[in-house]
Amino acid sequence: MSYSELEFDKGSVFLVTGGAGFIGSNLCGAILKMGCQARCLDNLSTGKKENTDLFLGEAGYHFIKGDITDPKVCMEACEGADYVLHQAAWGSVPRSIEMPLLYEKVNIGGALNMMEAARRQGVKKFVYASSSSVYGDCPRLPKKEGQEGKPLSPYALTKRVDEEYGRLYKELYGLDTYGLRYFNVFGRRQDPEGAYAAVIPKFIRQLLKGEQPVIHGDGKQSRDFTYIENVIEANLKACKAPSGAGGEVFNVAYGGRECLIDIYHYLAKALGKDTEPVFGPERAGDIRHSNADISKARDMLGYDPEWSFERGIEAAIEWYRENL
Ligand code: NAD
Repeated sequence: MSYSELEFDKGSVFLVTGGAGFIGSNLCGAILKMGCQARCLDNLSTGKKENTDLFLGEAGYHFIKGDITDPKVCMEACEGADYVLHQAAWGSVPRSIEMPLLYEKVNIGGALNMMEAARRQGVKKFVYASSSSVYGDCPRLPKKEGQEGKPLSPYALTKRVDEEYGRLYKELYGLDTYGLRYFNVFGRRQDPEGAYAAVIPKFIRQLLKGEQPVIHGDGKQSRDFTYIENVIEANLKACKAPSGAGGEVFNVAYGGRECLIDIYHYLAKALGKDTEPVFGPERAGDIRHSNADISKARDMLGYDPEWSFERGIEAAIEWYRENL
């Protein structure tokens, strides 16, 4: 069943933290389309004002500029919310290696503030963004919940800690938490700029601008690239999950595996470019291969991703062509 067929009460209030970012703004759009209320909490650190301007005219949209490291802000934002979709965090493995303290403060402290506010305000479901990076140094494929290795970066560690808080908040306080381990999400509105941009938008931008992209390592590292629509589906289905699934974590991916170098050639061909990439040194903290077993999310959340990599990448290329 597609998420567009899910039924929520029309007055339902969804608080989306990080709603000015890539994933959060797409969640806000989907919530508004369902006729529900999207309340966006964001401090506009990596998020963009234009991602909030998109919805400002809509009756169900409300933007709060605020920081999740402030418990009072979190309490006020959660007041009257039915569901919290917690996305606000600092992303990027390499940046976390440079700034571990910032990641601790926002990704752990901020998430804990949000869980605490959600429990005090009686929120029905607390769905939060975790990451495939929690699989760390475990080489086993496909990645399966319960088979985590040691985290390889501060970023990965912050997400593991959040998951443990998610489990505890269910066990100790009955807050219905759902941790979604996203695997390399891509799609419209993902930021292509800057040193820490994700590979797909970064390659597209560089190819379109005639720059020569850099691939770290030999390009044979692989990822389970996941189109944004599948991530929206997982979030909304978690909101509809039976509470017995609470306190758990779930892989959210398509279940495929693409090598970086193949993606590069695919994009270059699709954009009509013959630029060859430059190969740079491998990056610390990176996982070599990643591919998800999504059976747990299928069984417990009814997650059934409809967007293959090929379908998603076509849509993403089209969006960047029109918007870059
Ligand atoms: P993003 O950077 O586009 O969005 C994050 C948003 O959080 C931004 O709008 C930013 O301004 C906001 N934010 C950061 N610190 C904040 C604070 N202290 N208070 C309030 N708002 C704050 O990133 P994204 O790609 O949309 O990622 C969303 C979530 O998904 C993150 O938790 C990220 O770790 C997780 N995730 C993303 C991917 C991916 O491939 N994009 C993969 C795994 C996990």
